[in-house]
Amino acid sequence: MEIKTQLRSLKPYQPGKPIEEVKKEYGLDRVVKLASNENPYGCSEKVAPALEEEIKQLVLYPDGYSAALREELSKFLGVKEKQLIFGNGSDEIVQIICRSLLDKESNTVIALPTFPQYRHNAVIEGAEIREVPVVNGEHNLDEMIANIDKNTKVVWLCSPDNPTGKYINEQSFLSFMERVPKHVLVVSDEAYREYVTAEDYPDTVPLLDQYQNLIILRTFSKAYGLAALRIGYGIASEELIQGMEPAREPFNTSRLAQAAALAALKDQAFITDCRERNKKGREQYYRFCEEMNISYFPSEGNFILIDFKRDANEMFQKLLEQGYIVRSGAALGFPTSLRITIGSEEQNNEIIELLRLFS
Ligand SMILES: *Cc1c(COP(=O)(O)O)cnc(C)c1O
Repeated sequence: MEIKTQLRSLKPYQPGKPIEEVKKEYGLDRVVKLASNENPYGCSEKVAPALEEEIKQLVLYPDGYSAALREELSKFLGVKEKQLIFGNGSDEIVQIICRSLLDKESNTVIALPTFPQYRHNAVIEGAEIREVPVVNGEHNLDEMIANIDKNTKVVWLCSPDNPTGKYINEQSFLSFMERVPKHVLVVSDEAYREYVTAEDYPDTVPLLDQYQNLIILRTFSKAYGLAALRIGYGIASEELIQGMEPAREPFNTSRLAQAAALAALKDQAFITDCRERNKKGREQYYRFCEEMNISYFPSEGNFILIDFKRDANEMFQKLLEQGYIVRSGAALGFPTSLRITIGSEEQNNEIIELLRLFS
């Protein structure tokens, strides 16, 4: 019995400490988790009644085609129903893309650092990984193009990027699509797109008519507040989606996830409200950083990467002991930074007060 050699270089995902464990370990009554970019305002109030209804149906397998959600989402996005693929989180779409396109003979181009699941799944498929360092927190698009050759199958763009929060503007995105050879699939991971307020952030969906080699990833885990239920999706040409469909497990999204996503999608007022509150939250951190002369990346997501120019694990530990779980940049490629999820106004103020003491 032998595990594939390429798996030996990988570690299983290390999740952040659970709230209950931190409470026990440090004897705290209240612990705030701002480590995984979950929505501090929860999800739409329309979700609970939809779940209560669906819970009566647990004996039945889910609809493998997600017909009801598919219909609503295709109308919402203005695409054909067959242009959508649903996943157990958009993480699973990353896995499906890798299973469908990558093998030992191919390579894939990825920013370094960025969201780790692209690399992780590509390594499992045995593909050669070509990592292109980010510059000032931004994808180096010219270098990414320069790394493409005839064996390149997939290039990954994360915008807004995790963990930097930086985004690719419309002009850069269009110019990138123009230059990428047609045999290379471009993945535009837009997990945080609902939080974007920059006016020159591209609307990528209409570009699908023009580019058969583009797939857009989105999720219900972040702004929609449904991380626990695991549901995300990909949007691409009908041909590409239908080509990848056999690599999807038949019942990969649950009844509860589909029902919750459908209810959440219909409540766009909730999303707009979260976007506005999040923007104000980002500004609380900007003001703090500018006041204290601390460097940070302006963010289009619901998190901010702040460079304290000192050991990130130490800063992480100090906040943890006070009951605030954030993400140390050490594991994210930024060893002197913390990535903090934007919380409610009150939570942000509490963290900022502590950071003021520690930095
Ligand atoms: C959180 C996140 C995802 C995936 O989340 P799912 O819960 O699997 O949908 C994808 N990409 C980025 C950049 C993320 O931060």
